[in-house]
Amino acid sequence: MSRGLLLVISGPAGSGKGTVIKYLMEKERDIAYSVSATTRSPRPGEVDGVNYHFISVDEFKSRIEHGGILEYTEYCGNFYGTPKKEAEEVLDAGKNLILEIEVEGAANVKRICPDAVLIMLLPPSHAEQERRLRGRGTEPEDKILARLAQAREEIKQLGIYDYIVYNQDGAAEECAQDISSIIRAERLSRRRNPDAESKFLGN
Ligand code: 5GP
Repeated sequence: MSRGLLLVISGPAGSGKGTVIKYLMEKERDIAYSVSATTRSPRPGEVDGVNYHFISVDEFKSRIEHGGILEYTEYCGNFYGTPKKEAEEVLDAGKNLILEIEVEGAANVKRICPDAVLIMLLPPSHAEQERRLRGRGTEPEDKILARLAQAREEIKQLGIYDYIVYNQDGAAEECAQDISSIIRAERLSRRRNPDAESKFLGN
């Protein structure tokens, strides 16, 4: 059985990442979502083991020391990391695995697993991103400005990504379809099928 694809999905605030991934999980059968470990506190409605594994800083550091974390980053004062064992198990079982992580983590994954497929989900423009963040009306001005500034920093790293998917207004389902197409194309790519000749010839 061939190993699953490691899919990294990044996207700035306002890109609609959560909704797109929800549609993608509903559409695709052989796909799993990697639940990250984090030291930040749960937000209202977040469930331990579903949204994140919420752990202490000591526990996080101990997991890094014992090689239990595939990649990690410090983001806004908290640690976030991908549990290694769970990721390996899913990929070995031939399932595709989604890591929803920020840009620095994506770059680390690419270094550790050059085979990973990096996808950046973007709002149609920075102006549209600003409109969406203000439209939510849930965040104070300084937070909005910080997120916009962060997006301008992160976009500088766009070059490490393999694909860019634009999330137009209300088009989350189309974005999920785009990502499904990327998965199909990657599965069929020549470099992921190195034994195609011998299979064809029956050797
Ligand atoms: P939030 O606190 O809003 O849930 O997440 C903050 C940021 O951390 C998001 O950009 C999210 O994609 C990223 N993130 C979540 N889990 C991980 C992880 O395991 N590794 C890395 N590098 N980033 C993560």
